[in-house]
Amino acid sequence: MRVPWRTLTLHTPSGSRASSVPADVVNFVPACSSTDAHYLERLQDFLSRARSLFVMTGAGLSTESGIPDYRSEGVGLYARTNRRPMEHVEFVRSAKSRQRYWARNFVGWPQFSSHQPNCAHRVLQQWEEKGKLHWLVTQNVDALHSKAGHKRLTELHGCTHRVMCLGCGAISAREELQKRFLALNPEWSAQAGAVAPDGDVFLEDEQVLHFRVPSCEECGGILKPEVTFFGDNVNKATVNFVHERLAESDAVLVVGSSLQVYSGYRFLLAARDRKIPVAIINIGPTRADHLAELKVSGRCGEVLSVIQPF
Ligand SMILES: [Zn+2]
Repeated sequence: MRVPWRTLTLHTPSGSRASSVPADVVNFVPACSSTDAHYLERLQDFLSRARSLFVMTGAGLSTESGIPDYRSEGVGLYARTNRRPMEHVEFVRSAKSRQRYWARNFVGWPQFSSHQPNCAHRVLQQWEEKGKLHWLVTQNVDALHSKAGHKRLTELHGCTHRVMCLGCGAISAREELQKRFLALNPEWSAQAGAVAPDGDVFLEDEQVLHFRVPSCEECGGILKPEVTFFGDNVNKATVNFVHERLAESDAVLVVGSSLQVYSGYRFLLAARDRKIPVAIINIGPTRADHLAELKVSGRCGEVLSVIQPF
C-alpha cells in the first residue's frame, strides 16, 4: 500500500505526535526537524529500484532502543560526560584497566543486554525476509539486529554478547561470563549508573578494587568482549567478506551513522569506486554526505516505517 506522504509529519522531540521512540528512551535521540516529504518520495524511489540492497547501520539506530551513542550533539556520551571508550592497547596491557572495565560491564550487563530491537530493526528484518536486503553490516555491538532475526548480517565491530580469549581465541557467551562473575564476587555489589554504548557504567575506584575477574577456562588467557575496541583494527577476513557482499549489491543505504569511523566509511568509498548509488538516513551530517545521491535527515524508525520499497 502506498503511503500518503503529504499527510505525514515527522516531529521534533518536543512534539506530541505518535513516535517510533518510546517516551522513556527519547532522551538519547538527537533533536531533529521534520523530514521533507519530497525526500521521502525520493527515498521510496531509490529503494524501489534496488534489487540487492546493502545496508550499513550505526548507533543512530540503537538510540531509539534506549542505547546512547557517542557523538550526537547534546545527547551523545561525548557531549554529556567526560567518559571515553576503552582503548584496545590499554585493555591488553593493564590488568587494572581490565578489572575496572569488567566491573563496570558486569554491573551494566543486565540492563544493557535487555535492550530490544525497535521498529527500524524490524523493518530492515522484513526487507531481508522479502529478499530486498542483500546484506546488512552494522557498526553496533548491541546484538539488536540478531535479536530482530537478521541472518544476512555482519557485525563489523563484533558483539558485546560474545567474549573471546586473547590466549586461545575461544569464543563464549557473555551471559556465561556473568555467571562466573557472580560466583567469584558473591559479596560485591554496586548500583548501575548511566549505561554507555558499550555496556559500561560508572563506578568509584574503591568499589572496583575488590572485583575479581576470571580468566579463560581452557588456557587461563585474558578474556575480552568480542568487540573491536578503539585503536584496534577490524579483522581483514571480515573486511574482505563485506567488500564481496557490497560488490554483489546494486544500492547502498546507510541508516543512523555519521560514518566518522573509517572501518565503516571505507565501504562508502568502495561503493563510489564501484559506482553503486548511496542513500543516507541520519540526523545530522555524515562523513559520506558528498558520496550520496540522497540524504534524508530524520529518525531511522520514523523514516523506515513509512517506506514501502516493494
Ligand atoms: Zn583461552
